[in-house]
Amino acid sequence: MQLFHLILFFIGLGFGSFASVVIHRLHTRQKGIFLGRSKCPKCKHKLDAIDLIPVFGAIINKFKCKYCKKKISLHYPILELVMGSGFLATSILVSFDSLWLLLYYLIITFVFVLLSFYDIFFQEIPDEISVPTIILTGVVAYFGHLHEPKSLLIGFLIPVLFFGLLFVGSGGRWLGGGDVRIGAIMGFLLGWPNIITGLFFGYLLGSIYSAIGLISGKLNRKTPIPFGPFLFSGAYIALFWGHDIIGWYLGLM
Ligand SMILES: [Zn+2]
Repeated sequence: MQLFHLILFFIGLGFGSFASVVIHRLHTRQKGIFLGRSKCPKCKHKLDAIDLIPVFGAIINKFKCKYCKKKISLHYPILELVMGSGFLATSILVSFDSLWLLLYYLIITFVFVLLSFYDIFFQEIPDEISVPTIILTGVVAYFGHLHEPKSLLIGFLIPVLFFGLLFVGSGGRWLGGGDVRIGAIMGFLLGWPNIITGLFFGYLLGSIYSAIGLISGKLNRKTPIPFGPFLFSGAYIALFWGHDIIGWYLGLM
């Protein structure tokens, strides 16, 4: 690991903090500039700069507001750590030789982590983020020549038709319209045939989580499970290891 990677980890922590503000603003439909959390959500006391340092601020204050002593939700430091780790992993996996590709994959990482947490909190995928991301991935893949046009079209149609049919067929009970949009993002990001790897790992991770939850009694058959985080994890695995996995699989046949 080099200094660059460590710097990107800390930048990621900062973007994690920013993502929690974006999530809050989107959910409460507040407009305006996305400034950081500046007040305690409980007592509304203005926070110092030191309290706002991602992760470390929460640790220093022992996960409590230092004014009203109420517990600070663990969601904030967890989101920040996941974002930091995502930025670190992405910077290691993408060569610094291709700065535009690194920047693109960092944006993808930011969006994936933000939407995953939004889905976990509110069982919803906000259009304000998903629709521009569909456009971004489509434009970058096409004009950046990341995939052949035919690979893009097939990669896009498979998840959109598959999720679209499940959505319409179940009246939105098996999965939400947001999952169809995630499918479109995955299709443009991964192209054909890698989209299959992404969907496979998304389903695999989701199934493992559900199985463990059902066996341990933490979940029952009616518990709504946000599917987004699993799909995004599957897409991330396919993005960086998909070609190796497909090559390994074909080698077995
Ligand atoms: Zn407080």
